[in-house]
Amino acid sequence: MSQNLSAEVGREAPFPIVEKEPGVTTLTSQPNANIIYTGPSPRGWHRLQLAAECLQKYAWKYEGPKQEGKRAPSAPLAKGSLIHLALAQHYAKMRARQQGDDPEEWCDPEEAVRLIAELEGTGAYAEVAVEAYRAHCIQYPDDEEEMKIVGIEEMASTKIAGKYLFTGRLDLAYEDAAGRIWAMDHKTTGRLTARHKQFYPVSGQLIGYSHLSREKYGERYAGMKLNLIQHTNTKFERLTLPRSPNLEARFEQTVVDIEESIERMQASGRDFDAWPKAINELTCYHRYGPCDFINQCRYGLEAKKAGNWAWTDQ
Ligand code: SF4
Repeated sequence: MSQNLSAEVGREAPFPIVEKEPGVTTLTSQPNANIIYTGPSPRGWHRLQLAAECLQKYAWKYEGPKQEGKRAPSAPLAKGSLIHLALAQHYAKMRARQQGDDPEEWCDPEEAVRLIAELEGTGAYAEVAVEAYRAHCIQYPDDEEEMKIVGIEEMASTKIAGKYLFTGRLDLAYEDAAGRIWAMDHKTTGRLTARHKQFYPVSGQLIGYSHLSREKYGERYAGMKLNLIQHTNTKFERLTLPRSPNLEARFEQTVVDIEESIERMQASGRDFDAWPKAINELTCYHRYGPCDFINQCRYGLEAKKAGNWAWTDQ
């Protein structure tokens, strides 16, 4: 979603809006109805992951000409964004009640989903998100007693090795009864499987969030919780992210190594379509389908994006 809502999409908005503070938007037609409307973190793991997977993939995205216009988000991304929005509003109201503030200052979660879905052109997914949100509330009725909310969609940042800016937006941070701080990441999916538990301990994004949270909360930081949400035929699971001590210890060096490999290629003066290519069927055709740039890599610069790419016998 857009971070500078009023500046970037105010003209198209179906209702008057202003940005109150970074990440919090106020509907001017309803002066107190704040909506947490955030963008991706500006210098997060996703960018580094592209380069670690394949430097050519990074170059297609960041070194070539800027893409014209805004691409419509994929269905999983649109549903996930709307569910995140509903949960942000839900926990903002909860935090207000816990702190003795007026929860009505925060727009109702379901209303926020419908308004933002209209704004983003993702109205087709609004009801799935609302249903998942309602089921989540039924699943976790004790959150307000058990979690003292200390942060919602807050941007955390650090300078790795004193040089490389690294940012992350933490979905939720809360204090438990023992006074320990947990960061929680909401993960939405169409189908929750046992494999989710297996692959998240090697997620650079989550190890990066833990790195930022440890800096932010110090010794009070207890770890990452995953809030797994299956949005269709709803199913839920919460778990503590298993630690990966070696990856955590080497996280900063990993970031430095990736940044330096990007800098080395930039300094080489090579054309952006001639950066090193992974050329590996597991990287070029991954769990969610083909790499967005598979056709450019196979046929050259003018080939169109993968879109509905599928194998055809030749
Ligand atoms: S298709 Fe493969 S080689 Fe080309 S950018 Fe994607 S991952 Fe890299």
